[in-house]
Amino acid sequence: MIIKKVGVVGCGLMGGGIAQVCAESGYETIAREINEELLEKGIKAIKANWDKAVSKNRMTEDNRGLAIQKLKGTIDMKDFGDCDIVIEAAIEQMDLKKAIFAELDSITPANAILATNTSCLSIIEIASATKRPEKVLGIHFFNPVPAMKLVEVIETISTSKESMETGIDFSQSLGKQVVKAKDSPGFIVNLLLILFLLDSIRAYEKGLATKEDIDAGVKLGLNHPMGPLTLTDLVGLDTTYHIACAMYEETADPKYAPPVLLKQMVTAGWMGRKSGKGFYEYK
Ligand code: NAD
Repeated sequence: MIIKKVGVVGCGLMGGGIAQVCAESGYETIAREINEELLEKGIKAIKANWDKAVSKNRMTEDNRGLAIQKLKGTIDMKDFGDCDIVIEAAIEQMDLKKAIFAELDSITPANAILATNTSCLSIIEIASATKRPEKVLGIHFFNPVPAMKLVEVIETISTSKESMETGIDFSQSLGKQVVKAKDSPGFIVNLLLILFLLDSIRAYEKGLATKEDIDAGVKLGLNHPMGPLTLTDLVGLDTTYHIACAMYEETADPKYAPPVLLKQMVTAGWMGRKSGKGFYEYK
């Protein structure tokens, strides 16, 4: 299947990054947000990334011009009516994702692929909101999307071989390295990562060490690029909380139950880097 036009649902941290790499790769790209203010914020962030890339000689002026031409924003889902593939990157909540997929199913061409960037939710459950489960799959990018090489392409028990092939070819055309995984909570990476993040929050919560020492221990002792509390701030505390809740609900395994401190911080509006405050403060 030839992909010409890509729709992206959500222009936050992940949707913005996905729209950015699609437009840079030459796809006609349209990103949808829920209101003009969030749309403007998302598109502005993408353009600021391109300005920075040009100033650092990582992108030519011409290529920035071409990418800007390829990128459009909308608040109307009906603008996905001629998309060949839509990637959903709205917040990590099953009911919302099912409502979005039902709407996409009624708007997009019958042969369009519908992909979700979910971190851990059941993709077959999301697909059940459509009449085309064979065309639904996971295309799971990593944060920050322009910099991170990996994409997990996730197959449900209903995804067709052709849809998987299209998802893999498309992800590779964005310059990403693909790993394939089955539709199981957390797929490969988050199955391992989320426990690690939750355990680091529990260690901090019980006073094992300061946040700086937990992060320094992992960074220097395990040679990770950043410590787990810094990484939780980068992922978003709300997103980490939603993922933990969903994995706990799906597996009934108490090790995925979100720490009380995480819930308290999310309730207080401390979402991490994106809100200016999480375990650390950001200007
Ligand atoms: P985010 O909060 O930064 O962005 C989500 C955006 O979706 C918001 O701007 C919101 O306004 C928008 N939105 C909500 N409902 C919408 C709708 N009906 N139509 C269009 N837009 C809508 O969250 P994020 O970190 O970008 O996460 C998005 C998805 O990507 C989640 O499923 C998350 O689990 C997954 N994910 C996140 C990360 C990460 O590190 N943050 C990594 C991989 C995958």
